[in-house]
Amino acid sequence: MNDSTADTPVSLHCPRGNDCPISAELSQLRDRVTELEQHAQTDPLTGLYNKRYFDSVLHRELERTQRTGMPTTLIMLDVDHFKRFNDTHGHVAGDHALKHLARTLRSNLRNLDIACRFGGEEFVVVLPSTPLLVAIQVAERLRQQLTNSTLVIDASAMKLTASFGVDTYTHEHRDNLLDFVERVDKQLYLAKSAGRNCVKHATNAPRSAHEVTPEERDALF
Ligand code: GH3
Ligand code: MG
Ligand code: MG
Repeated sequence: MNDSTADTPVSLHCPRGNDCPISAELSQLRDRVTELEQHAQTDPLTGLYNKRYFDSVLHRELERTQRTGMPTTLIMLDVDHFKRFNDTHGHVAGDHALKHLARTLRSNLRNLDIACRFGGEEFVVVLPSTPLLVAIQVAERLRQQLTNSTLVIDASAMKLTASFGVDTYTHEHRDNLLDFVERVDKQLYLAKSAGRNCVKHATNAPRSAHEVTPEERDALF
């Protein structure tokens, strides 16, 4: 089988049509494979993508950045004082809080953006073809939505905040996937150090593919 057919289900035509037991079983198996594929990339608690999917999607997007010159930007967020939340309200309430956060992410992101549970109470959003400035605005919007929303558990209203780090990968970056994630994590750490419930972001991103230096402008005209 060559590569072009690897992902495309082969269409089988049986002379017995819909009565064919083999084609019915094949169709069931295909559905089961799709279901298992979805399980393998989904976090069971929040329904967001899991860390395994995040790794593969970020790898794909960084390659796309190298190919097209369009930046890939990453937001990393971590719930503030979540240990205290669990200790005060219980672990089940903590799980509800994580689901609430996942809903907030889902309802405030574009279809193209990919929200994943990175682990524990830490989440990441991959923003394909998105410059740093736009992603900072997205992160700030998410932060405000979370801060302004109320989580109701057993008729009690609770508040949840998170800290955000943002950094970008352009085709001029030479660091690898792990280095990039570490850069974003560093911004998140700065947000925690600055008192939490805030967005911190890189300021020294290399020049974007679409910016022109004064020298280049002179050469053009
Ligand atoms: P910080 O603001 O510095 O991030 O403080 P924090 O308390 O949020 O951070 P810490 O790492 O001390 O605690 C994280 C807590 O998140 C502890 C852990 O039990 C809780 N946690 C991780 N995963 C889950 C989960 O799936 N459900 C619940 N309920 N709690 C979880
Ligand atoms: Mg935390
Ligand atoms: Mg954490």
